[in-house]
Amino acid sequence: MAISENIINDIRDKADIVEVIDSFLHLKKIGGNFKALCPFHHEKTPSFVVSPQKQIFHCFGCGEGGNVFHFLMKHQTMSFIEAVNYVASMVGIDIPDQKREVDFSTFLDLNQKVARFYTKSLFSSLGKNCRDYIKSRGLEEEIVKLFNLGYAPPNWDSLSKQLKGEGYNNEFLIKAGLVVKAKDDKGFYDIFRDRLIFPIIDHSKKVIGFGGRVFSKAMPKYLNSPQTPVYQKGKTLYGVDVTLSDIKREKTAIIVEGYLDMIMLYQAGIKNVVASLGTALTQDQVRFLKRYSDEVVVVYDGDESGQVASLRGLDIVFESGIKANAVMLPKGYDPDSFIKEKGKEEFLKLLAKKRGVFDYKLDVLRNIYGVESLDSRIKIVHEMFASLEKVGNHLIRAEYIKELSNKMGFEEKILWDEFNTKSGRIKKDVFKEKALRQKSYSSVEASLVYIMLNNSEVIPEIKGALEPEEFITDEIQSLVKVIYDTYPDSDKLKLANLLNVVAEEEARILAEIMAEDVELSEDVFQEHLNQCIVNLKIQKIKSYCNFLEQEIKKAQQGSDNKRLDTLFRELNDIKKKEIEI
Ligand SMILES: [Zn+2]
Repeated sequence: MAISENIINDIRDKADIVEVIDSFLHLKKIGGNFKALCPFHHEKTPSFVVSPQKQIFHCFGCGEGGNVFHFLMKHQTMSFIEAVNYVASMVGIDIPDQKREVDFSTFLDLNQKVARFYTKSLFSSLGKNCRDYIKSRGLEEEIVKLFNLGYAPPNWDSLSKQLKGEGYNNEFLIKAGLVVKAKDDKGFYDIFRDRLIFPIIDHSKKVIGFGGRVFSKAMPKYLNSPQTPVYQKGKTLYGVDVTLSDIKREKTAIIVEGYLDMIMLYQAGIKNVVASLGTALTQDQVRFLKRYSDEVVVVYDGDESGQVASLRGLDIVFESGIKANAVMLPKGYDPDSFIKEKGKEEFLKLLAKKRGVFDYKLDVLRNIYGVESLDSRIKIVHEMFASLEKVGNHLIRAEYIKELSNKMGFEEKILWDEFNTKSGRIKKDVFKEKALRQKSYSSVEASLVYIMLNNSEVIPEIKGALEPEEFITDEIQSLVKVIYDTYPDSDKLKLANLLNVVAEEEARILAEIMAEDVELSEDVFQEHLNQCIVNLKIQKIKSYCNFLEQEIKKAQQGSDNKRLDTLFRELNDIKKKEIEI
C-alpha cells in the first residue's frame, strides 16, 4: 500500500500541523510555539508543544511526539495510510488511484458486500440451524438485524465462488482476509464456514472485519479476521457502531470481552457497552474511548483464569489517565449468562460495586498469592509498583502508595524507598514532572542527531568519523542510518519528512530530540562537534568495557580460564584504544 514518498511529503508540506491539531485540542500560542494540555497523559500544566517551524509535536511530560500523521495515528487511532488520506483531503490533494497499490475503499466495499452475503445466507434455507442457535441463545430478531449478524454457509467456497463471479481474484481475497490457500496448494477455501458471523463495524459504520462463532462442537469456538489493510487487531471495539451515542450520553463505557456478552447486555438495556475482543485492553482502545467518555468500567469473568488475564490489561488503563473501574462477576458467570439469569437490575447492582483499578488489582493479587508470608507480600508490592510506574500524576501515585502501605503492612517510607530504587528514580525528583522521563539514549547521541539535522553540511564529516554501529542505542543507530542514506536530498532530510520513513518509536525519539531549541554560535560549533564525536567513541568503549567486566565476573565464577584469557586480552585492547582517543 505504497503511496509514493514524494506524494506523502507533498501532502505533509501543504498541511499545517498547528491547524490540524487545533481542530482536536485547544492550542494556545506561547512564543513561537503552541501549547496544550497533553491528550496522551494526565497533566495540569501544559507540556504538549506544537512547533509550526519544525512541523512536529512533542510532549515534554510523557515523551509522545512526531509529525502531523503521527498525531492522527495516536490521537484518532488511524493507520498511517488513513492519516495520510485524512490530511490529503484536508489540504485538497487527490491521491491518484494508480499511486495506491491498495485502495482502502475497495476493501471496505468488499466487506460491505460480504456482510450482506452472510445476512442473506442466515435468512435462507441454509441458515436454519444457525437461526435455531441464535434463538436458543435468546437473541431477539430485532437485535440480530441491528448488529447485522449473518451466517457463513458450510461449503468450502460459497463466498469465494460468488465473489470470483463478480471479478475478484484469489490474491485480493486473501489480502482481504476472506480466503486462504489450502496447505497442499490444491486451491483456496473460505476462512469462515458454518459459523454465526458478527461483522466488526467501526464507529464510522464501515465493515472492517468479521468474527465467526461455531454453534456445533467444532474448534476453534471463535475465529476473527486476520490482519488486513482495514482490520487491525486491538484497534477496534466491537459494537461501537451501535453504542457510541449511548457511550457519549452516559459519559461512561462498559467494556466486556466477547461478541455475545456485548450484544446480550445491549439487548437487556445496558446500552453503553463495547467488547474488546481479547482479554487485554489495548492502548488504542482506551485512547479511543477517552475521546468520548470520562470513565470506563471493565467487566471481568468470575473465574481464576479470568482474574489473572484481567491483570494484563490493567496497566494500560493506569497509563491512560482515564478514570477506570473494574468489576468481577460471581464465580462461574460471564456477562451473557449473568444478565440472562439475573437480569438488568442485578447487573446494575453489580456495576455499583465497581472499584478503582488499583484496588481491583490489589484484591486480585491478594487472592492469588495470599498475604500470610512476607514473600508473597513483597511479590504483591512489586507487582503493584509496575502499575504505579505508569501513573502519570504524582499526587495520585502518592495516594496509592499510602494505601498500599495500609493494606500490606509496610511502612510508607520503606515503600517509597523501594519504589524509587526499583524504578531507578531519585526521590527528590518525584514531584518534578519533567525530570521524570528517562531517556533511553545518551545526550551525546542526541546532540549529534540534532547537529546533523540542523546543519546537514556536516553529515559527511560525521559519517566519515562514525559508523552507525558506533552509536549506542538501537533506535539512534537506525535513525543515523536513515540520515546517512538520505543525504544529500534536502527535501527528504526535512525533519517532518524524515519522520515518515522511520518506525514509530524512532519518530517519537527524533521529535523528542529535535523539540529542544539549542543554539550554538559559530565559533564554538566545530569544537562542540569534535567533542561530541570523541565523547561518543569513549562512551561506546566504556559500555563495551562494562560488558566485558560483567562477562569476566561470570567467567570467574564458572572458573572458565580460557574464556577469561580472551576477555582480559580484549579488555586490554579496548583500554589501549581509549587512551589513543
Ligand atoms: Zn504527554
